[in-house]
Amino acid sequence: MSTLKSRLDVVEQKISEAASNSGRSRDDITLVVVSKNNPAQMVLDLAEIGVSNFGENRDQEAKPKAAEVALAGKTVTWHFVGQLQSNKAKSALSYSSVLHSLDRPSLLDAVGKAVADRAEPLDVFIQLNLTDDQNRGGIQTQNVLGFAEQVLQTPNLRLLGLMGVAGLDVDPRVDFDRIRNSSEQLMRLAPDAKYISAGMSEDFEFAIASGATHVRIGTAITGKRPY
Ligand SMILES: *Cc1c(COP(=O)(O)O)cnc(C)c1O
Repeated sequence: MSTLKSRLDVVEQKISEAASNSGRSRDDITLVVVSKNNPAQMVLDLAEIGVSNFGENRDQEAKPKAAEVALAGKTVTWHFVGQLQSNKAKSALSYSSVLHSLDRPSLLDAVGKAVADRAEPLDVFIQLNLTDDQNRGGIQTQNVLGFAEQVLQTPNLRLLGLMGVAGLDVDPRVDFDRIRNSSEQLMRLAPDAKYISAGMSEDFEFAIASGATHVRIGTAITGKRPY
């Protein structure tokens, strides 16, 4: 518990510094702690010390974890950050409040059906594919506006903005700037879609410098994942 607290404190300090270095407020940035491959108890421990947003990338793992956390009486917000199979959309959206990985038209169809009867819209990010490989998940930057129009036409979805993962073999600043450029274009079409989900343990300070509003941080807080 104390190790978790000290790692969380270090990350919090870095988020605050990165925000203030860019003339931004810490309050404009949401920390999503990625709890994948860690047990529900760690989520409860982190909730105890003030974390309220958690990210998961596999429905099979996240669903029972979310149920366990709810059973323990903790209310947290779950963010789905991984590639989602269309046939798992309904299940994942039964506990997730924010989908960061809306990455293809077929998933949009499935998500649209899953949220059709909702009273409140679901928050979604469009995930960008920042590589040249068409087979990777995500929308190529040149196709973002067309896909965004489809999202905006789907009832019960609230388009928050764009999500991206920096490539392994490139300077993350280059990829984060590309996300920012796409975000500026998107905001001309949808002024409210102003949020950017970018930045992980190794690169979140660069992401904040490029305008990230949601950082998805795992190992820097949870430690090495046990499985
Ligand atoms: C695992 C994961 C993260 C967190 O990665 P760390 O390097 O552990 O911070 C963030 N985003 C996505 C989409 C992930 O799958």
